[in-house]
Amino acid sequence: MNNDITIIGAGIAGLTTACALAQKTRLSIAIIDTKPLAQTWQPDSYHHRVSAIALSSKRIFQNIGAWQHIASHRISPFNRITVWDNASSAEVSFRAAEVGEAQLGYILENNLMQDALLSCLQQLPQVIIHASTTLDMSQLQHSKLIIGADGANSWVRQQAGIKLAAEDYGHDAIVATVRTAKPHEQNARQVFLQDGPLAFLPLNDSHLCSIVWSMPPEQAQATLALNDDEFKSQLSQAFSNRLGEVIETSKRFSFPLKKQRADRYIADRIALIGDAAHTVHPLAGQGLNVGLLDAAALVDVITDALHHNRDFGALQTLRRYERWRKGENALMLSGIDSIKALFCSNKQTTKALRSFGLNITQQMPLLKNLFINRAIGAYDGLPTLALY
Ligand SMILES: Cc1cc2nc3c(=O)[nH]c(=O)nc-3n(C[C@H](O)[C@H](O)[C@H](O)COP(=O)(O)OP(=O)(O)OC[C@H]3O[C@@H](n4cnc5c(N)ncnc54)[C@H](O)[C@@H]3O)c2cc1C
Repeated sequence: MNNDITIIGAGIAGLTTACALAQKTRLSIAIIDTKPLAQTWQPDSYHHRVSAIALSSKRIFQNIGAWQHIASHRISPFNRITVWDNASSAEVSFRAAEVGEAQLGYILENNLMQDALLSCLQQLPQVIIHASTTLDMSQLQHSKLIIGADGANSWVRQQAGIKLAAEDYGHDAIVATVRTAKPHEQNARQVFLQDGPLAFLPLNDSHLCSIVWSMPPEQAQATLALNDDEFKSQLSQAFSNRLGEVIETSKRFSFPLKKQRADRYIADRIALIGDAAHTVHPLAGQGLNVGLLDAAALVDVITDALHHNRDFGALQTLRRYERWRKGENALMLSGIDSIKALFCSNKQTTKALRSFGLNITQQMPLLKNLFINRAIGAYDGLPTLALY
């Protein structure tokens, strides 16, 4: 490989980085994935892998020209978030209007984002895509920078000898697309049940939601084994029939959930982004959003180095990326872990504390805005691509 930058992993974080770098620089870029890469989005059914996308992520897609493709196919905006605790009457609700926005975010199918990014790359001849390809490190020695965007089991991270702190959350997430009797009204709802959170994410059809139901692995196995009628009935009950009966369900899929934090985001001529650097519980819908901010921040650091005739792959240059994103992510990811610890505990004192927390948040507009601005990606220190 004789290109300037090699990106390992053509997931959403890797493809976004490739698009942005190709548009902002004259560098030659290769992107490599072990899997075949084809357009897979289908208009007649929703894909089971969806993500709640913050406005910062939307702006990144807009700024690299991928949003137009996504929006012309299918987007599911939401303008309200409602969270409640099943063990008490405590509830908090955020509305887009409270922060002067029309939407709080979008539910997007992961394969549609990937297709849009692949379409963008087709217009960028300095990016060469190697699908279904496995490499060893010796083939990468001529690249000035290797970007590890190869997900939670990152090969690049292992090759770089970067240590990983990993811990099971003790949850598997069951995902499915369901039809409910009542319309969702573009409200993204989540209830904290005794064993874990259950989210109903509103899709473009007013009666369809994508659900993410996190629970202990044994319980997830039992829930997957239910027949459709039993599953719909248990799901409606778990959600206290807030959207009436669940009347249809797609096939169910489950994902084990792990907390992972890379000790370093960089090594000599190596930078990690996205799930390669960190994974987090999906309860706050932030994993991909923070991964896209990593991508955008790394692009800023590389373009700035080029502008000042500095070596963009040197450890000294990459340190700025690590300081920036590791600091930001520590705040966001540990915040999410604290919510997980608070809401998935059955201790009486913790129950009281979370009920108090939800009630106080609901009553204090400033605190609410602080939370919501973090969640939607509206705060100081955002990378250029995430700005308007
Ligand atoms: C149930 C669930 C719900 C979620 N909901 C949300 C949400 O609402 N909002 C949100 O922001 N996030 C959410 N997330 C998190 C989000 O899905 C991930 O953070 C995101 O998909 C990670 O993207 P990535 O590009 O970093 O990695 P990946 O999507 O894992 O991509 C990595 C790529 O690298 C490739 N690869 C792997 N090894 C190699 C190798 N050795 N060589 C070459 N290529 C390789 C893989 O084939 C893959 O294409 C959720 C996660 C789960 C499990």
